[in-house]
Amino acid sequence: MKQTTWITYTHEQMQELKDITERYKSCLDAGKTERECVELSIRMAEKAGYRDLKAVMAAGEKLKAGDKIYAVNMDKMLALFRIGEEPLSAGMNILGAHIDSPRIDVKQNPLYENEGFAYLDTHYYGGIKKYQWVAQPLSLHGVIVKKDGTVQKVAIGEDESDPVFVITDLLVHLAQEQLEKKASKVIDGEKLDLLIGNCPLDGAVEDKEQKEAVKANILKLLKNKYDMDEEDFSSAELEIVPAGRARDCGMDRSMILSYGQDDRVCAFTSLFAMLDVTEAKKTGCCLLVDKEEIGSVGATGMHSRFFENTVAELVAMTEGESELKVRRALMNSRMLSSDVSAAYDPMFAEAFEKRSSAFFAKGITFNKFTGSRGKSGSNDANAEYIAALRKAMDDAGVAYQFAELGRVDLGGGGTIAYIMANYGMEVIDSGVAVLNMHAPYEVSSKADVYEAVKGYRAFLRM
Ligand code: MN
Ligand code: MN
Repeated sequence: MKQTTWITYTHEQMQELKDITERYKSCLDAGKTERECVELSIRMAEKAGYRDLKAVMAAGEKLKAGDKIYAVNMDKMLALFRIGEEPLSAGMNILGAHIDSPRIDVKQNPLYENEGFAYLDTHYYGGIKKYQWVAQPLSLHGVIVKKDGTVQKVAIGEDESDPVFVITDLLVHLAQEQLEKKASKVIDGEKLDLLIGNCPLDGAVEDKEQKEAVKANILKLLKNKYDMDEEDFSSAELEIVPAGRARDCGMDRSMILSYGQDDRVCAFTSLFAMLDVTEAKKTGCCLLVDKEEIGSVGATGMHSRFFENTVAELVAMTEGESELKVRRALMNSRMLSSDVSAAYDPMFAEAFEKRSSAFFAKGITFNKFTGSRGKSGSNDANAEYIAALRKAMDDAGVAYQFAELGRVDLGGGGTIAYIMANYGMEVIDSGVAVLNMHAPYEVSSKADVYEAVKGYRAFLRM
């Protein structure tokens, strides 16, 4: 068993750890949805000299070593590239992570009134324990797109002066029957509706004709603030997430408690490393994808051809248009498919097998296999590739550990690794271990966040 990394750090390393984790926390606060993460990442990338692929293509430019490019897909998926000295067809070093997180989505026809309360109807997104999301402050993030194409951004509940929202739970005094239910049934999916108002429209009390006056009042507020009508909900993407900021956790401030660390702990650390490394031989790539939590589907998930198409454009702009060279670029690449790992939790020791568990403060986690029940659905990283990674990590003084997700036959999870492995490239699951994954607030170790950035830098330099 490797030692905790905390006792190995010099004063300088502790300072760097602090800088990185503070920056990470501010990114978590600014990026609570996939769209917000893309917007923030583009802002950071442009500051570091990255340019939009579309603009570079429009200008008819060729690309050369050292050029920095980003490509964005529907504002929910982002790929950054730093062109290396070797040709693209010799392969890239790819850091991949996902920027969608479990949450509760607002439906397309959501607004209704019931007994003087106004609600938004919802459908949860990703794997959640529904009972964890009730009776706590929630915020609303997203976009409303009107028929004329105007995009209205929404973020309510993060500023101290903002109102927040809540999904109610039954009082314990009357919960005798509820408490007998299975945990998966305690809160029904259709009852996860968001309480958003209780005050009727001004003058509605006198006007007996006015039905649903609380809903009418909400519509008036929405009209004033966003110039939207009820029908505009149908072309909106509104996501309900825990309100509030990422916080230090523990008397010793050794951990971070925050919403959305699956998988933004890997996404932002990958991005930090990508922006830091400016001297690699191979083309570096940082790929931030959407929809992982629901199977990597759709135009902005890893299954989409967006990445492949973008690589084809880059090959055309460096080595000349060639379908074969695109295939070579993909097949000759290496990837760290980064996603959170389940950290060993002594409170739930029975769910883990200690020798194959990821521990806090023991560095970046590698999973040769993911999948479940006989490794079903796994990506399997090649032993030769793992050996090369061990050398790169050791040479760069990065702490790392090997783990599997929980006990055999207990469950498991998928990532984006197997999708990229379809190209024949070397891919391994890696990432940061967290406690209570998919809960409204997840816990990470600052030491592991730091080791992840170090590890990703070392990988890009491989
Ligand atoms: Mn994940
Ligand atoms: Mn997840």
